[in-house]
Amino acid sequence: MQRTTKIVATLGPTSSDPAILNQLVAAGIDVVRLNFSHGTVDDHRLRMDNLRLAMSAQSRTVGVMADLQGPKIRVGKFAGRKVLLKTGQDFILAAHCELGDHNRVGLDYPELVDDVVAGDVLLLDDGRIIMDVKAVMDGEIHCTVRHGGELSNNKGINKQGGGLSAPALTAKDKEDIRSAAALRVDYVAVSFPKSGSDMREARALLVEAGSKALVIAKIERVEAITNLEEILDASDGVMVARGDLAVEVGDAAVPALQKRIIRTAREHNRFVITATQMMESMIHSPIPTRAEVSDVANAVLDGTDAVMLSAETAAGDYPVQTVEAMARICVEAEKSSEISLEKHFLDRVFTRIDQSIAMAALFAASHLQVKAIAALTESGSTALWMSRLNVGVPIYALTQDVRTRYKVSIFKGVYPVMMRQSGHDRDELLREAEEQLIRAGAVEPGDLIVLTIGEPIGTPGGTNTLKIVQVGDPQIAN
Ligand code: PGA
Ligand code: MN
Repeated sequence: MQRTTKIVATLGPTSSDPAILNQLVAAGIDVVRLNFSHGTVDDHRLRMDNLRLAMSAQSRTVGVMADLQGPKIRVGKFAGRKVLLKTGQDFILAAHCELGDHNRVGLDYPELVDDVVAGDVLLLDDGRIIMDVKAVMDGEIHCTVRHGGELSNNKGINKQGGGLSAPALTAKDKEDIRSAAALRVDYVAVSFPKSGSDMREARALLVEAGSKALVIAKIERVEAITNLEEILDASDGVMVARGDLAVEVGDAAVPALQKRIIRTAREHNRFVITATQMMESMIHSPIPTRAEVSDVANAVLDGTDAVMLSAETAAGDYPVQTVEAMARICVEAEKSSEISLEKHFLDRVFTRIDQSIAMAALFAASHLQVKAIAALTESGSTALWMSRLNVGVPIYALTQDVRTRYKVSIFKGVYPVMMRQSGHDRDELLREAEEQLIRAGAVEPGDLIVLTIGEPIGTPGGTNTLKIVQVGDPQIAN
């Protein structure tokens, strides 16, 4: 059975090795994530070059996501690299402090001092250390350590409940957007957006830099939950960024939010990635925990388009085994995922002609014994709309545009297929589509397929035609 849930793998030191990257591609990764919080643009470029080699060697299509660092607030450095904070001790976060010690440390975002008041709770290093704010004075935040532990250089700080004023796009992010555009990435993920306008700003900067990359909003702030709908409207996809989200809203609130974000994204015709700690133990272990197996399977059952790996593939000891395990869990979970067309179909609202054709294709495919849906698409939107409902029939996005093939690789149940540049002849186009589907192993002579196309051929514009054909039938071109 073909896996419908896509796998996003973060590249890092481990996966810089071309041999490992080759194996990751062979194990079935669909998208790679370049984490702009780490490494240089040259590191990212080198990884993309290696990826291109692996892709062409294996005839696979793998999309590339640039993930911006965003205004992640961090402590500064310590004289001795790290300190051990005792529960109950006092500790100061100071706007200006060169090198820290066990009494105080500096901040890479001095404005934090203006965003907190006595009574606030600060979570450091993903919540491993908890501090209660006692007082704020003279550019210093005086805290009591509620839960101590080891604190090392540049660990992150979150404020419980949100409310940090840092803008979503820092100067570094704006620079990185230009680099991502130059690298010709397919998606750009924006960290810590609070509103639709944060996402519009990111897109405008990308467009200015000559990129048509899809923009992904990482939902990891309290404000992003409140403004979810407007963020979805301004984005192409979202990420359930459970790492920071858990710190802001409390870990126990995340599972229900995950379900809500996934459902809302799909209703808005947006794609969604579920991220962070999905296979965390596999950073150092060759097999996942039972809880991780359940977590990945539940994200699939929630209807996520993609599941993401972070340190597991970027810096882990078992990157390839992790992808293999994840793929296996997805395939098994998909067997029992709900085929949702019948239930939701009548509730779907669509006014556009191309969207209506997409829905009609799903309706036909779910009632006939159809082997494949083939969307001949320029932009990939038809395939996206089709994939918002799970009809249990694979959707092939056939396009000559290589950029579109990369983009659709993150949509659940959608598979990119190359089409040769063809003339304006409709019969020739349909023959070529059939040939490519056979070559891709998607169909064989005798299979029934549902095709969607835009006519007249060759003029860019919306899909307006639905055709149901039997592969190999000479009537196909009539
Ligand atoms: P990060 O984002 O890994 O860049 O922090 C994901 C998350 O917060 O879950
Ligand atoms: Mn994050």
